[in-house]
Amino acid sequence: MSLNDTVRADRIHIGFFGRRNAGKSSLVNAVTGQEMAIVSEVKGTTTDPVYKSMELLPLGPVVIIDTPGYDDEGELGSLRVLRTGQVMNKTDIGILVIDMLSGIVQDDIEIYNKLKQKNIPFIVVLNKCDASSTDALELTASFRQMTGDNSCPCIAVSSSEKTNIYELKELIGSMKPETSGRRLVADLISPKDMLVLVMPQDVAAPKGRLILPQVQMIRDILDEHAMALCVQTDELGSALEALKNNPGLVITDSQVFKACAEIVPENVLLTSFSILLARYKGYLDSALKGIEAIKSLKPSDKVLIAEGCTHHRQCNDIGTVKIPNWLKAKLGFEVSFDTCSGYEFPDDLGKYKAVIHCGGCMLNEREIGYRIKCAADQGVPVTNYGILIAYIQGILDRSIKIFQ
Ligand code: SF4
Repeated sequence: MSLNDTVRADRIHIGFFGRRNAGKSSLVNAVTGQEMAIVSEVKGTTTDPVYKSMELLPLGPVVIIDTPGYDDEGELGSLRVLRTGQVMNKTDIGILVIDMLSGIVQDDIEIYNKLKQKNIPFIVVLNKCDASSTDALELTASFRQMTGDNSCPCIAVSSSEKTNIYELKELIGSMKPETSGRRLVADLISPKDMLVLVMPQDVAAPKGRLILPQVQMIRDILDEHAMALCVQTDELGSALEALKNNPGLVITDSQVFKACAEIVPENVLLTSFSILLARYKGYLDSALKGIEAIKSLKPSDKVLIAEGCTHHRQCNDIGTVKIPNWLKAKLGFEVSFDTCSGYEFPDDLGKYKAVIHCGGCMLNEREIGYRIKCAADQGVPVTNYGILIAYIQGILDRSIKIFQ
């Protein structure tokens, strides 16, 4: 990905699913026009999901994901199938690739059922039409009969001969995955508003650049023709004094919420990057309700701390050190924690009394939605870093006043 690219979380995710050797990788190469995936006659060549960003009009920026075979076997194979399932959780458009040479098998129907169950719009692609003697219309009719689905789009293609690849791309382009159109902050502010962003550049900050939520926030503010004054915590007081009028809003890194709340006058709106991200990703209400579960934790309870990306943990890391310590101080006793990061969100949340999730800037809407639903289905409340820290610091009401 180049510096000018749309971040992956904001791209439409198109996942290719199918059995080993159904020709997913060749098809992905044909669609992207690049040799992004290794193609081989040997079953199971794709061992990890492979991602490729591209523009696919009229959809715009998309990320194409080639997945390991759904029928992979053995211990490693099961792990790969698990990874494929995790890819499905963030897939906006699914491509079910069926090998015309072997016809429709139970694994294909299972993938179909999973895509339906997860409410993912999809296309059935009958691959290797050049080499198969089976009639594509007959196979389509069989698929419809086996699934009872008479409306799903089906197309026969050949990756090697490039037959119907253009038509497949047109078909993908005609799919309209649901997006909320939510904004990070732009809908809460007006042109010419002055916002102050508190962005500590401490040891945990990556060298020489800003982190994604900060970049996205600044961009959203500029898009609204408002103004952003970016400072570290130590300069916040001076920045406020330097302004002719109070800012319309102060947005802070949640880790310095308390220090900011002491500096920013009570009549100035104050919230955090993480809280705005929870709203942007569609789980602010759940995160607010989730706080009730935190209040009723008991010493024997277990909590999952989930982060959407894998970063190298520094000493005094927020997820593994600061939050557990702050929570212990607030509750007066220790609870136990598990942590997960990146796409490794566990399906089974039964042992947890609550999940505390980061802002999730690296996760797309569908993935966050899946996590919230997965937790809700199991009766496990989810809250968010920013909401939790605001609650612990006694400034929760103040931090969500902007939404009232
Ligand atoms: S995904 Fe979560 S932990 Fe990673 S940068 Fe975004 S908000 Fe922070």
